[in-house]
Amino acid sequence: MTDAPFPLVPGSTIGILGGGQLGRMLALAAARLGFDVVILDPEDGSPAGRVAARQIVAAYDDRWALKRLAEACDVVTYEFENVPADTVAELTALGCVVAPGAKALAAAQDRVVEKSFMAEIGVPTVAFAAVQDSDSLAAAVAKIGAPSLLKTRREGYDGKGQAWIQRAGDAEAAFEKIGRQAAILEAPADFGRELSVIAARGRDGEIACYPLSENHHEGGVLRRTVAPARVTPATRDQAEAIAAKILTALDYVGVIGVELFELAGGKLLVNEFAPRVHNTGHWTQDGCEVDQFEQHIRAVAGWPLGPTQPLAHVEMTNLLGPDVEAWKKLAAEPETRVHLYGKGEARPGRKMGHVNRLRGLKD
Ligand code: AMP
Repeated sequence: MTDAPFPLVPGSTIGILGGGQLGRMLALAAARLGFDVVILDPEDGSPAGRVAARQIVAAYDDRWALKRLAEACDVVTYEFENVPADTVAELTALGCVVAPGAKALAAAQDRVVEKSFMAEIGVPTVAFAAVQDSDSLAAAVAKIGAPSLLKTRREGYDGKGQAWIQRAGDAEAAFEKIGRQAAILEAPADFGRELSVIAARGRDGEIACYPLSENHHEGGVLRRTVAPARVTPATRDQAEAIAAKILTALDYVGVIGVELFELAGGKLLVNEFAPRVHNTGHWTQDGCEVDQFEQHIRAVAGWPLGPTQPLAHVEMTNLLGPDVEAWKKLAAEPETRVHLYGKGEARPGRKMGHVNRLRGLKD
């Protein structure tokens, strides 16, 4: 466990905090490279637990479970950004290497910390101000103006915990709507498209970026990704420079997903980053030489990063809730690769799987 010698040799064990679909696809990629995976998740029979060598069923702050995980694993990673900071601190104190590290997690868990960090390293974002009470809300609206978007600092995802302020007079109502929690007020990004770049940094500091993808949301949830996105070389260079700045400043190891707004003149702003494999990178499973899941496992295991060249144009569509019932029809489409997460109940909006539809690069 301690002083894990990198690169990890096949047969080593990788721990993953979180047993959802991202953990499942990471576990499958790890198995292909000859690693065993141990999942820690409070839910028995989680999607990842069912394809891993082992699952520890316990809360993320269960000290006994963390000890067992640390003893079993040569390195630990995670599939979601809301892993408690204390969990990572505890694992580190037990001599366990956790990747990506605590700094990346801390930045990704709090929108004000995240945007302040990006401002510090010269990565462009929308203008923003921190809000914690009515006075700071009024000051933030005076600074940022309206319309503007109020978001909770923590735990917001898929458009949850957000409220638009159309006029200054709406500010208090918007604050009520998000539960008067500590928040960030953001200027509106006047974007034409939402893009993302999935990038990786290895233990030796090597960086590799995938081609950009173009992302379409419905009701705040990713519906469709088209990749490689049609972008100018200048846009690609901007995105890669942004990803490299973030990865280097965080001394990052693993895959990161960086969500971008493309403005009319071609300038990119970062919306947010996720310190993990990302839904907008699922297209790489069938569209690239080495996909984001294997890339992440390679990085945390201290292996060389794999090539990120595209092999096909891919349209990735999430199967939300009952969409998954079309699996038989989808499986019969020759250009469609079906990825299902083994989740039981197809509740409305729940991510049950995705499909990658392939077209040749010359089409
Ligand atoms: P987030 O939870 O920050 O990823 O935001 C969810 C979605 O809300 C994004 O994918 C955008 O479509 C939209 N959004 C977020 N922030 C802004 C902003 N500052 N201006 C305009 N739209 C935004």
